Amino acid sequence: MSNVYRYLKEIYRAYEDGIPLVGPTQISKALNVSKSTAHHMLKNMASMGYGIYMERKGFMLNEKGMEMARKIMRKHRIIESFLVSTFSMSACQACEEAGRIDGCIGDEIVEMMEKRFNYTTCPCGKEIPK
Ligand SMILES: [Zn+2]
Repeated sequence: MSNVYRYLKEIYRAYEDGIPLVGPTQISKALNVSKSTAHHMLKNMASMGYGIYMERKGFMLNEKGMEMARKIMRKHRIIESFLVSTFSMSACQACEEAGRIDGCIGDEIVEMMEKRFNYTTCPCGKEIPK
């Protein structure tokens, strides 16, 4: 599942940048995996019901996939914000650490962090999805 989260975050980042279709090349660069690994994972994600995969075009999130992507990105960015504001971590280190726990941390603790600190953007200035 943690792998799916890594992919969902990357696809969501592309979507935020105005790129609705994400191909294996882009994913392989961002996640440092081979193009064939990225290709297989995107196809798997389509069969898991997160979106559609069009050969030679790319993957596009559907409603379920987008909801999952927003949820994981929300957690990721709240954790990042928490690490930076609480421990003065660099944004880069916070991103790496957040990536290790965003897929397994409970919803409640993340909402507690958010309520306590009222973060609206992540340390890089990107919006925290609702
Ligand atoms: Zn990050």
